[in-house]
Amino acid sequence: MMNFDDFNISDEIKNAIGDMGFEKTTPIQEMAIPLGLAGRDITGQAQTGSGKTIAFAIPVLEKLFIPDRSPQSIILCPTRELCLQVADEISKLGKYVKKLKVLAVYGGQPIGKQTRVLKKGVHIVVGTPGRVIDHIERGNLNLIGVESVVLDEADEMLDMGFRDDIETILKSTPRQRQTMLFSATMPTEIRKIAKNYQNNPKFIKVSNKKENIPKITQHAFMTNHKYKFDDLTKLFEVYAIKSALIFCNTKKGVDFVFKRLKKNGYSSEALHGDMTQKTRDRVMNKFRNGNVSFLVATDVAARGLDISNLDFIVNYDVAQNYDSYIHRIGRTARAGKSGCALTLVSKEDFANFNNINKQSKGKITQKKIPSDAEIENIKLNRILDDSLNSIKIDNLEKYIKIIKKKSSADISSEKIAAALLRKLGEN
Ligand code: AMP
Repeated sequence: MMNFDDFNISDEIKNAIGDMGFEKTTPIQEMAIPLGLAGRDITGQAQTGSGKTIAFAIPVLEKLFIPDRSPQSIILCPTRELCLQVADEISKLGKYVKKLKVLAVYGGQPIGKQTRVLKKGVHIVVGTPGRVIDHIERGNLNLIGVESVVLDEADEMLDMGFRDDIETILKSTPRQRQTMLFSATMPTEIRKIAKNYQNNPKFIKVSNKKENIPKITQHAFMTNHKYKFDDLTKLFEVYAIKSALIFCNTKKGVDFVFKRLKKNGYSSEALHGDMTQKTRDRVMNKFRNGNVSFLVATDVAARGLDISNLDFIVNYDVAQNYDSYIHRIGRTARAGKSGCALTLVSKEDFANFNNINKQSKGKITQKKIPSDAEIENIKLNRILDDSLNSIKIDNLEKYIKIIKKKSSADISSEKIAAALLRKLGEN
């Protein structure tokens, strides 16, 4: 791994990287930054979580001419959430670049507000393709001065039907622009866009190798369609899960799991593509702030989400393919933290699981859902371990005195400890 200091980047940006707490580069950054700084077109195959935002943001920022306040860079992302995240990351990275203006434009927000900011002048526009087109058509956005274009999560944008919009936007920018394309997968459609709109691009790829998926414990549990929901709640107990992002393959599945969780007293919300932006925002914020514990989502709705401190991902349905699986589990263990991904596999899901399991090369451990007795045992041991940990730090004299007073020939301290453990276990 390299240090950011090894690159030829300005002190303003180096200092901002220092403030963000990054020292070493990620593999995609190591490959993309020098190419980007040299002005090369890049086709990068990388997942969310690989650090690709910084990888393209540094070359974008270094190219800017701040006195000129017409858009010099346009970054296209599939969703509003990703636009906001990318704009936020660029603002952090450019915090010492005086007078830098970055604007996120996306559907769902009143257009007037975005128009006013655009009219005042911005250097970088981060937007969803539909809204960007809207601004171009209204005459709010002129891309004639654009020097760099980034297509972020290009495969997802195509899946969402943005192909024509992307091509229109690319055609509205000067031919000599720098074009950087990032995509988790590289289907023919993406290669075609690269071929038609990029100039001798350099292809770089970070494979789904261990170093790119940091410290994620991955377990799979065979289950039965009928008992799947019960098994989900058993996993909550086994792993003492207080909060998790739960994936289902369909909107119907999301609704089912979300409603049953609610009915069983778990604080939960649903997130899927059919919801209005406003509702999605509200739900996301609740989850981010810890006001809701379980978020049940489809792949599209959760795409690109960066949630810090998310310890558990649960695949209620097995992902359709390996790329999607990697994308899902990449929501945990962000920025070097560790995380855990649990997958429930029923008969219907078995073919998909086999496929994913093969490609993961033994990283997914297959386990059995523990029986009720085993779960109780795990729970009691956890309570005991937690209590034993406190022996090292707490002053227990006060409690020892009370126990001593209560114990007698008939009631040993051991018995008292056992009764306490039973009581705690009931809660
Ligand atoms: P991305 O793939 O761009 O969505 O980035 C994933 C996460 O990694 C974000 O939270 C970034 O802030 C963080 N990140 C990016 N570059 C680095 C780095 N070099 N070291 C540690 N964390 C990073």
